Amino acid sequence: MSDDWNKRTKLVHAGTRRSQYGEVSEAIFLTQGFVYDTAEAAAARFEAAGEDEFIYARYGNPTVAMFEERIAALEGAEDAFATASGMAAVNAALTAMLKAGDHVVSSRALFGSCLYILEEVLTRYGVEVTFVDGTDLDQWRAAMRPDTRAVFLETVSNPTLEVIDLKAVAEIAHGVGATVVVDNVFATPVFNNAMALGADVVVYSATKHIDGQGRVLGGVILGTKEFIRKTAEPYIKHTGGAMSPFTAWVLLKGLETLDLRVRAQADSARAIAERFEGHEKLARVLYPELASHPQHAVAAAQMERGGTVVSLDLKGGREAAFRFLNGLDIVTISNNLGDAKSIITHPATTTHQRLTQEQRDALGIGDGLVRLSVGIEATEDLIADIARALDGA
Ligand SMILES: *Cc1c(COP(=O)(O)O)cnc(C)c1O
Repeated sequence: MSDDWNKRTKLVHAGTRRSQYGEVSEAIFLTQGFVYDTAEAAAARFEAAGEDEFIYARYGNPTVAMFEERIAALEGAEDAFATASGMAAVNAALTAMLKAGDHVVSSRALFGSCLYILEEVLTRYGVEVTFVDGTDLDQWRAAMRPDTRAVFLETVSNPTLEVIDLKAVAEIAHGVGATVVVDNVFATPVFNNAMALGADVVVYSATKHIDGQGRVLGGVILGTKEFIRKTAEPYIKHTGGAMSPFTAWVLLKGLETLDLRVRAQADSARAIAERFEGHEKLARVLYPELASHPQHAVAAAQMERGGTVVSLDLKGGREAAFRFLNGLDIVTISNNLGDAKSIITHPATTTHQRLTQEQRDALGIGDGLVRLSVGIEATEDLIADIARALDGA
C-alpha cells in the first residue's frame, strides 16, 4: 500500500493479505487457533509473536488484521484494534487507560451506552467524571484539572447533531496532558479526519456506516502503535471483546463501498434538509450543512460533508411525530443509522427513553424530534415519501 493513495483507493486495497492461493476477495480465516511446526516454534511465538504470526483469535486473526490495517490506513492512524461492537471499543479505549483517582471530562450529549460507561461504570471504579456542554469551550477550559487524564466526546452528537470544535477542545485537553478520545461515528472516517484535528484515540461503531447494510455488530479503536499495543490490546485480549473473523470479512466488504455510500447518503441528506427547512409542520430542521445550524461554521471547517443524518422537529409533539413515522412507506422505523436503507427513529421513546425528562430537555430531545438516517435510495423518492408523510402528520 502507498501512503499517497486517496481514501477511496485505500478502502479497496489497504491491508489485503493474500494466502498461497492468490484469492481476489479477502479470505475468511474462520479459525480460533493456529498450529506450530515444533514445540520450540510455539514457545517462540508466545514469547514474541512476529508480524503475520497469530496465537489465538481472541488476540488476533488474519481476517481481523486485514480489517484493522484497512481502517487504520483510512484514518491515517498508526494502528488499530477491532472489537466485537462499538461499545466494546468505547469501553476498552477508556477502561484500558484509566484507574481509580483519575479525572475525565466528557461532553454531556452522548450516545446512551457511552453515557452509561462514563456515568455508571467508570465512577463505580473511582474515576471522577465532569460533564460539560461540548459546544461551550469555556466549560471545557473550566473543567480541566492537573489530574485530568482523558477527555471524551462525540464529534457530532446524537440525535441533535451538535458539532464540537475538536481542534479547540484537543488544544485545551493537551494543555493539561489529557488523552483525547473521540467517538467519530456520526462524522464518519470519510468526512472528518479526527486524528489530524487533534484526537489521540478514535473509536467507531462499525455497525453503522462501515457495515452500512445492517448485518453485523463491530467496533474499532485507532491510535498510536504505543497506545494500541501497550494499552488497548492487553486489556481487550484478556477481557474478551474480540471481533469475529466473519464480522471482519463483512466489514472489509463494507469498507470497499463506504466512500460511495456515505457520499450518496450525504447528498440526499442535504437535499432533504434544504427541501424541508421551513416546512409548516416542522419547528426545526437540524443538519450541519444548513446555514441555520448553530455550529455551521465549525462543521464546515472540520467536516467535508454534513453527514448522513438529518433530525426533524415536528410542531405537533409526540402525536405528530408518531403519525409521521407511521405514514412513511420507504423509510423504515428502526434504530440503526448509517444504513443503505433509510431509517427513522423517535429518540424520546426509544434510544433516549432511559433518560429523565429533565435530561432530555437539557439535550434538546423534545417529543416532536425524529432522527432520520438517510440511505442510498433515490433522493426524489425519499423526498416524496417524507413530503406525503408530513402532510398526514
Ligand atoms: C451505535 C453507536 C455506538 C455503539 O455501537 P454498537 O456497535 O452498537 O455497540 C457508540 N457510539 C455512537 C455514536 C453510536 O452511534
